[in-house]
Amino acid sequence: MLRFAPSPTGDMHIGNLRAAIFNFLMAKKLHQKFIIRIEDTDLERNIDNKDKDILDLLKAFRLSYDDLIYQSDNFPLHRELAHKLIKEGKAFYCYCSKEFLESKREEARIQKKAFRYKDEWAELEKGDRQTSNIIRLHANKAVRFKDEIKGEISFSAGEIDSFVIMRNDVPTYNFACSIDDKEMSYIIRGEDHISNTPKQILIKEALGFGANVKYAHLPIILNDENKKMSKRDAASSVKWLISQGLEPQAIANYLIIMGNSSVERACGELFDYNSVIDAFDVANISSNPAHFDYKKMLQINRDLLRKKPIESFYYLLDSINLNGAKEADFKDLITLYLGESNSVAELKTHLENTFNSIESKREMCEFKDEFDKILGILKTDSKNFESYEDFKNHLSTSLNLKGKNLFKPLRILLSGQPHGIEIDKLYNALKDKMQLIINHHK
Ligand code: GLU
Repeated sequence: MLRFAPSPTGDMHIGNLRAAIFNFLMAKKLHQKFIIRIEDTDLERNIDNKDKDILDLLKAFRLSYDDLIYQSDNFPLHRELAHKLIKEGKAFYCYCSKEFLESKREEARIQKKAFRYKDEWAELEKGDRQTSNIIRLHANKAVRFKDEIKGEISFSAGEIDSFVIMRNDVPTYNFACSIDDKEMSYIIRGEDHISNTPKQILIKEALGFGANVKYAHLPIILNDENKKMSKRDAASSVKWLISQGLEPQAIANYLIIMGNSSVERACGELFDYNSVIDAFDVANISSNPAHFDYKKMLQINRDLLRKKPIESFYYLLDSINLNGAKEADFKDLITLYLGESNSVAELKTHLENTFNSIESKREMCEFKDEFDKILGILKTDSKNFESYEDFKNHLSTSLNLKGKNLFKPLRILLSGQPHGIEIDKLYNALKDKMQLIINHHK
């Protein structure tokens, strides 16, 4: 079984999404179950409805799962197992006061040593108490494990001290996670969790859980400045990427090939999950940090859009008053703008600008007199010219306009934009819609 284990403490970022996709793909590859576990044990940091947001995104990315678990539902089990470990002498109550531990920390600071908890401190301040609200696991053991991406990773005994597994009857993150991971065969997550892994391995060992689980810790993702992508990089937010009109499939495909050239060689850049399962293996991912390339993601999106049937974009015309014209009449125009668009959002903007009101078009044009003259001609002489050459000659001879005095207002009149596609192409796609354009008021 594999799992994606998001915390409902913030918005999903591309690192989380990448972990979700990889767990999903590996579950399919290994013919195992894929579950979602909402890690809501940090009661103070949980944000209302973040779990719903995450589940909605998983749906948008078509990451279907076999089961959904809320970690806090397992609290009774976590408590029971903590007490079992105490009975077996593998865990113990720690009666140290905050002040005592702080004085030990201060001592370590003065001696310039890393602070390590010593088991012999546990009962120094016990008095006649029978229990404490802190339970620790006896640790102090070297741990090594094989990471499928990074190779052998080891921690010496001195690096891990007897750490807290229960505080005030609530399991710590590592304790809850290890127990809930009992059935997992493969754990795929960001490399920021590497430091948790030895603790989780020790907890599982103490509980007698099977040891043949594989780990893959995904390298960090770097931005343009070679710094770790963070909240400050808008593109790290999955919601932001979607708000830019990127298709989930394009985002997913990019994340799948990022740092994984073997998949790109085998499947190219456009594929669906099923067709990539054979070529994909999380173990083949480069162990170097991945460089996030937004332009490449956009290009994949663009290529993906071009492969879709034009009819699938007709809905974008819904917000435009077509005065009874048929959607199919806009096929050429949509095709033309599609060539200029990285995303559906951009395509929509091109269409909306084109059918913007005459008043707003005039407003944005620096050559207002010329704009009015061209408009006047179009209104009185609504004859459709077959070729752009004829149309242009007609305008320039009857109005005595040429160069930018002609082209700038004309482009704005036609497209509602000061720059863009060559006017002849624009004209050809719009010539039978001239009345719609010149009579278009808001
Ligand atoms: N809840 C953790 C996170 O969101 C995931 C930990 C894990 O996959 O083990 O980073």
